[in-house]
Amino acid sequence: MQNNPHVTLITPKAQMDTATHGGRAKCLQRLVRLDLPVPLTVALSFDAVRKIAEGEMPDVAEIVGQFPPDTLLCVRPSSEDPDWGGPGAVLNIGMNAARQRELSQSLGKEAAAAIYARFVQSYAVHVARLDPDEFDDATQDGAGLEAMLRAYEDETDEPFPQDPREQLSAVLRSMARAWDGTSARLLRQAKGAPADAGLGLVVQQMIPSFGQGECGSGVLQLVNVVTGLPQITGRYLSQSQHREALGAGAAALYLERDARGPSLEDVAPEAFAQLKAHAALMREKLREEMQVEFVIRSGEVHILDGVRVARSSRAAVRIAVRLAEDQIITPQEALMRVEPNQLTELLHRQVDPTAPRDVLATGIAASPGAATGRIVFTASEAQASAARREPCVLVRRETSPEDIRGMHASVAVLTERGGITSHAAVIGRGMGLPCIVGASALQFDIPNQQIKAPDGRILRAGDTITIDGTKGQVLAGAPAMLEAALDDAFQTLMGWADAERDIGIRANADTPEDAQTARNFNAGGIGLCRTEHMFFEPARLIVMREMIFADSPAGRAAVLERLLPMQRDDFVQLFRIMEGQPVCIRLFDPPLHEFLPTSRSGQRELAEALGIPISDVTRRVAEMAEYNPMLGLRGVRLGVTVPEIYDMQARAIFEATLEASKNGAPVVPEIMIPLVSAKREVELVKARVDAVAAAVRGEKRRDFDYRLGVMMETPRAALRANDIAAHADFMSFGTNDLTQMTYGLSRDDAGRFMSTYVQKGVFREDPFHVLDQEGVGELLKLGAERGRAGRPGITLSICGEHGGNPESIAFCREVGFDYVSCSPFRVPVARLAAAQLAI
Ligand code: PEP
Ligand code: MG
Repeated sequence: MQNNPHVTLITPKAQMDTATHGGRAKCLQRLVRLDLPVPLTVALSFDAVRKIAEGEMPDVAEIVGQFPPDTLLCVRPSSEDPDWGGPGAVLNIGMNAARQRELSQSLGKEAAAAIYARFVQSYAVHVARLDPDEFDDATQDGAGLEAMLRAYEDETDEPFPQDPREQLSAVLRSMARAWDGTSARLLRQAKGAPADAGLGLVVQQMIPSFGQGECGSGVLQLVNVVTGLPQITGRYLSQSQHREALGAGAAALYLERDARGPSLEDVAPEAFAQLKAHAALMREKLREEMQVEFVIRSGEVHILDGVRVARSSRAAVRIAVRLAEDQIITPQEALMRVEPNQLTELLHRQVDPTAPRDVLATGIAASPGAATGRIVFTASEAQASAARREPCVLVRRETSPEDIRGMHASVAVLTERGGITSHAAVIGRGMGLPCIVGASALQFDIPNQQIKAPDGRILRAGDTITIDGTKGQVLAGAPAMLEAALDDAFQTLMGWADAERDIGIRANADTPEDAQTARNFNAGGIGLCRTEHMFFEPARLIVMREMIFADSPAGRAAVLERLLPMQRDDFVQLFRIMEGQPVCIRLFDPPLHEFLPTSRSGQRELAEALGIPISDVTRRVAEMAEYNPMLGLRGVRLGVTVPEIYDMQARAIFEATLEASKNGAPVVPEIMIPLVSAKREVELVKARVDAVAAAVRGEKRRDFDYRLGVMMETPRAALRANDIAAHADFMSFGTNDLTQMTYGLSRDDAGRFMSTYVQKGVFREDPFHVLDQEGVGELLKLGAERGRAGRPGITLSICGEHGGNPESIAFCREVGFDYVSCSPFRVPVARLAAAQLAI
């Protein structure tokens, strides 16, 4: 505008940018450039609005002068990102007694009074900040208008302003100040807005949507917002003004011809066809699915606004893929438009976001997805429930290997204790089982089979609950669900991601089922197979326990003989499922006593199997207890002190390699030694594994290759990576244990105080969830550097729970890792995140 460069009539050539005038102003300018029928609009820049808030008003007469005389105006917010919100729109500015009289002639008394009353109401409440109860929605008629004007005068001691310039000034000032309010500020900062985010405003000519011929207003979009499939959706209301009036009004027409009732297409076919054409043009030129806000006046279409269609996660994927398939955007842009974490919502069932939720308590969201079932408190009840085909939720204080079969039989798991890397969390994620851990807000009374919610409600065995593992919410009852959606659009997007990314993505998979999931999600191999998880099946657990109880090497060897074929079969299956992709098998890791029965019934079962008194079992279990088992006899320390276990596993791997290579792609297994901290440990294990390989080659008279590597899980391993690398083909950083040991923070106990630590800002995030790049990351960098110095070309990777997080992937890519390995269900997220990093 002549006197003020910050107030601009929107024309094709006007200087206007999202960063200076906000997204709405910029979008309107694009629509003007497309020659769409957009009413006259003036944009106020962030600077102009900032000055207004400080008391410096632009020349309002000049703004009003841009519009034809006696036009009603509306003002709407235009922030840089529409998600940051802004004050609500104010309509019908310019309405006064004179305009009411004029409109009474053309529209009738009722309609004119209603328009004026609506304006007085919104002005009184949003601009003059008067008590909303005095200006009730229900009284928008002639009598109501009179009452409102009186109430306005009583409250302000002034008559309702009649001068459009005065009205506009007040509206602009109130909207500018609302943006500066503390709650508005906090709200938008929570959505990622910077502290100094600006607000633009647009002042637009209102097109009357009442009168002769077909008149009305509505919104229209070309897609279904839940599925993302093409479908014309929206609402249209004859003789109505602006979208706010649309609400849930029963008088709305369908847009397209519809058997259920009259439609806009029936009453104004030409306008409808024009509207569709405008929407299609906007989709093509704005390169996005847009919601079109429109007015029809005597059959003529006007486009008031366009906003990006709000969408579900699955719709986000399909919309991006369809835009690229229609060559409106490139596949790379389509990849950038989907937030990787959104994909988890597609891989699992979810609570319908529109369904009401009855939240009993919140815990740590440990494994995403949602499931509904009846509460059971023990693994055996879970199995009984599964046998009856009744979905159940396993509720435990915490889980242990003994609960695995119960977890398999359940649809979801809830624990009182534990953090993001606790047993229940890791197993739950691996199985794709929704899981909440650390739900200490609930009082667990396992002996009496009940839990108490903070609001006093008691839940008993058999009661139906829903676990929302995505949000960490325990819900009462069975809310509506949305099914998983691994549709063609998802597959297409994933294919594009693989073409872009430059870091490998493998899966952590322990069982053939996990491996199949990993394969279905196109993982580039298995990065971590935790072999101990193969022993959690009841038939194997008992053999494992016999092995642990064997009191001589010969006795142990005899039991290991029985375990050998079981392990071999597991590995054959894994190799076959992975079809020649690399499979990295970690030798036995956990403390042996984790496999021992803790319950009386479990101890009795073992006593029966071994033919010894139960008191012997109890005594041996007590003898094996360690003060600090996570730092005790586990990992390679077992390999060094009880080497027969690793011998058996190495033999099973090699025999399976030969078996699976018979009529398939040759298999090159990777054997990984856990928890090393010294070069000598690797030497000792390597010597025995090499000896087993030589023995198998000799017995079978066939050759095979294998790779032997180490897991980097102790700070010392990272510090001494140079010499450890001498014996290792690869190094895989186990960031769960490495985080535990770097912080000296128990991964099983940290859940109890983690939220306090994060709340008080001690940790920015739970370091078991988000990789601590400053501390643990330093060890990763240093270990990688020293490892490469010890053995140039050594393969480097990460296989802790962090492996699937986009931020950790970025870090690993920068440090030059070859691949990341994560839970099978995180693989698609990791593939997309890796692609975005490479674009
Ligand atoms: C790790 O410690 O990061 C790891 C992957 O091993 P686990 O979780 O089995 O200890
Ligand atoms: Mg570990």
